[in-house]
Amino acid sequence: MSETTFNNQNEYLVEVKDLKKWFPVQTNFIDQIFAKQLEYVRAVDGVSFKIRRGEVLGLAGESGSGKTTIGRVTIGLEEKTDGEVYFDGMDLSALGREDLRKLRRRMQVIFQDPLASLNPRMSLGEAVMQGLKIHYPETSDQHRDIALEMMEKVGLTPARFYFNKFPHQISGGQRQRVVIARALITKPDLILADEPIAMADVSVRALLLDLMIQLKKEFNLTYLFITHDLATAKYICDQIGILYLGRIAEIGDLRDVYSLPLHPYTQALLAAVPVPDPHERRTKLMPRGEIPNPIHPPSGCRFHPRCPYAKEICSQEEPQLRELMPGHQVACHFAEDFMK
Ligand code: SF4
Repeated sequence: MSETTFNNQNEYLVEVKDLKKWFPVQTNFIDQIFAKQLEYVRAVDGVSFKIRRGEVLGLAGESGSGKTTIGRVTIGLEEKTDGEVYFDGMDLSALGREDLRKLRRRMQVIFQDPLASLNPRMSLGEAVMQGLKIHYPETSDQHRDIALEMMEKVGLTPARFYFNKFPHQISGGQRQRVVIARALITKPDLILADEPIAMADVSVRALLLDLMIQLKKEFNLTYLFITHDLATAKYICDQIGILYLGRIAEIGDLRDVYSLPLHPYTQALLAAVPVPDPHERRTKLMPRGEIPNPIHPPSGCRFHPRCPYAKEICSQEEPQLRELMPGHQVACHFAEDFMK
């Protein structure tokens, strides 16, 4: 397949439809013999969303909500159980191994832990050049210069000073800059940023976010931004999807969702965001207890055991995502009550 075939210029760079990712529960041999049927962790259980070219979609939720798994399946790092994933109009499951390998150049990842994602025995320069070696071996004589230029762009200056250093010789913030340079070196269209600043010192988090925003403009990037922190999402995201137990509770334009959250779970998450004013009082009820077991999710609305507004119907009927305002979808039987 030629490179031009991969450049369809669809309005939506990413389209995910009814995505499911279930992991079989590992049991011992005796349990397997007597088990009536296999059990599954329903990490992602019917999720749909689109990302416009050049936009940042944030996926937020507690640990166990399925956000990281969605990201990994969306860019082909994990196989889906069911559903459809389109990248630039192409159905990923219809592509052969070689086409997928070529496409990977356009989809890169910034992982949460830069120390774990960098080879401790590989110099920073080598790490940044890795993608070029894989996807552009024919231009090997230019790799060093391209890598130096990219290292300068992400703030590793002077790049020659850092090129031959190793991950343990630089700070955590600098390591994340190396990971960002490594992700951008193949000029991707989509970046999966999985909690990209969570491991960085508080003092450099804003700098890294500013860098990601600046690079997004310069390289016309689209981000799928995974976070548990709604304050961080507010800084960078255009759209936000709130996940609960493998499903989307609410999704829409970030300003709409933050100014008028229509799902009790979104309201609780936003109420938990720290505010600089010590006199501001919290008025929303926080959800009770822990996120339930994804092997046996609660009946009806998955949030009902923790929801302060739950009524009888909530444990019986699963609420579907409904568009209550343009582009603003909510999965709650009583979402209209929160619009008053
Ligand atoms: Fe709460 Fe019921 Fe809405 Fe679920 S459907 S969020 S339990 S009010």
